[in-house]
Amino acid sequence: MMNCKEATRMVSEGLDRDLALGEKLRLQLHLFICDYCRNFSKQGNFLRRAAQSANKRKSD
Ligand SMILES: [Zn+2]
Repeated sequence: MMNCKEATRMVSEGLDRDLALGEKLRLQLHLFICDYCRNFSKQGNFLRRAAQSANKRKSD
């Protein structure tokens, strides 16, 4: 089972690249049981749209 650290990392990676099918399934399974990561995922999608409109991304 994926833990929250992996799940949030995968959500972030999913913003930059297409996840493999197995990764998506594992992530979806985690989001199904975890409110924290589900919210993180929603925020990530929101932030991506905001970042795209700004056309600028802060690197880690
Ligand atoms: Zn989680």
